[in-house]
Amino acid sequence: MKVWFDGKIQPVGESTVSVMSHALHYGTAVFEGIRSYKTDFGYSPFKLDAHILRLFRSARAVGLQIPFSEEEIGDAIHQVMIENDLQEAYIRPLAFFGEGSMGLDVKSAARANPTHLMISAWSWPSYFDGPGRGLRATVSVHRRRFSSPTLSQAKAAGHYLSSCCAHMEAKGRGFDEAILLDDENHLAEATAANLFLVRDGLVSTPLPRNALRGITRETVMELARAAGYRVVERSSTVADLLNADEVFLTGTACEVVPVVEVDGQAIGAGTVGSVTFRIARLYAQEIRRASTAGTPRPTRPADRGQSTARQM
Ligand code: PMP
Repeated sequence: MKVWFDGKIQPVGESTVSVMSHALHYGTAVFEGIRSYKTDFGYSPFKLDAHILRLFRSARAVGLQIPFSEEEIGDAIHQVMIENDLQEAYIRPLAFFGEGSMGLDVKSAARANPTHLMISAWSWPSYFDGPGRGLRATVSVHRRRFSSPTLSQAKAAGHYLSSCCAHMEAKGRGFDEAILLDDENHLAEATAANLFLVRDGLVSTPLPRNALRGITRETVMELARAAGYRVVERSSTVADLLNADEVFLTGTACEVVPVVEVDGQAIGAGTVGSVTFRIARLYAQEIRRASTAGTPRPTRPADRGQSTARQM
C-alpha cells in the first residue's frame, strides 16, 4: 500500500512518525472516511467535497491547522487512488499533531507540534459481514457523550475509543453492532453509523446533539423526503427502537444497513422492511447518478492539461 504523507507518496512502511506524537498520547487527530465507487469512466469518490469540508471543520474544532488546501487534499486523494490502482475503495485522510510539546495546549506551546496529514485508501467491500440478512444489534452499556456541541460534530480520533469498546463489547456478546444512548437515555447512534427508525411510514433519526451529522444521514433524509416519506429528527427511546417497524443504520462505510433484531427481539417482522429496502436502493441509485454526473478533473497537478482517463 502506498500512502500520501505530508505531501509525498510513499510505501506505507516508509512513513514513520514519532512515538512521542501528541495524537498518539491524547487522541488529537481528526479523520474522514470516504467511499469511492467504480464507474464506466473510472472511479468516483462519493461526496468528496463534503468530506473534505468536514475534515477542515473537525480540525478547527480540535485546534489543528491543516497545512494543505482543500484542492491539494482532493488532488492527493486522486494520487493515492491511482498509485494503489484502486476503483472501489475506502479513503482515509487523517490529520494529527506530531511530536513537540507534551502539554495539552499544543497550539500555544513554546515548541509547537507540527500538524501531519496522511491519506490512505484500501479495498473495503463491506463494513459488516453479510449485511444483506440484516444486523443483530444490542443497546450498549457505553454512552455517547461529547464535552461540547462543536466537538460532537468533529470526527475526532479520541471519540472512537468509546466506539471501539462498544463495538468489541457487542461482538463479544454475539451481536453485530452496538447502539449507544446519550446521558438522558435517548437513542444516539451506532458505533460508526447513524440510526434511523421507521414507524407507520414515518422515518425518524435522533437529533444530531449526541450523534454525528453524517453525510449519508443527510443524503438519506433528502432521498427519503423526495420519495414522499415524512422524515423527522427527534429524540427517541429504547422503547421506540424496539417498537419500530423497521430500523436501519447509515454511514459511508456501511451505506444503508437494516437492523432486524435488537437484544434478541425482532424489529417488525424480523426481516428487511420495505422502507429500508427502498431507501437502500435509492441510495445505491444516488451513488450511481452522482458518479456518472462527475465532472472530469485532473487527478494530480502533473496531469493537468493531459489525458483525463480514469478520472471522476
Ligand atoms: N456516526 C459516527 C460516530 C461515525 O463514525 C460515522 C462515520 N463517519 C457516522 C455516524 C456516519 O457518518 P457518514 O455518513 O458521514 O459516514
